[in-house]
Amino acid sequence: MERSERETAEIRSRLLGLKAELQRRVSTIHEHARDPLEQDSAEQAAQLGQVAVVAALESEAIQEIAGIEAAIRRLDAGTYGICVTCEEPVGDARLRARPAATQCRDCAELDARRHQ
Ligand SMILES: [Zn+2]
Repeated sequence: MERSERETAEIRSRLLGLKAELQRRVSTIHEHARDPLEQDSAEQAAQLGQVAVVAALESEAIQEIAGIEAAIRRLDAGTYGICVTCEEPVGDARLRARPAATQCRDCAELDARRHQ
């Protein structure tokens, strides 16, 4: 899929913006995770529950960052926006909604169904 330099630059800045936002989210998560544990055991249990939630949020954000970095690499390689499974264009509407998408909607839905 041919893209103008301007389009490529726009996509890159959108991806970098998303990445910066996610990195801010991860550092906010880190700040909260450093809060000392409460003395009270009920409070401690609640906090430990939060720690698990926070860890899940953090790994989700880190995965998203990795996905965005991979998208930037595909952009550099000229394969951005091409489905990794069927090699058809992913589609601009889908890329606008999910800039790090690696698959077209059909392949993503098939995969999701297979992993259920
Ligand atoms: Zn596909």
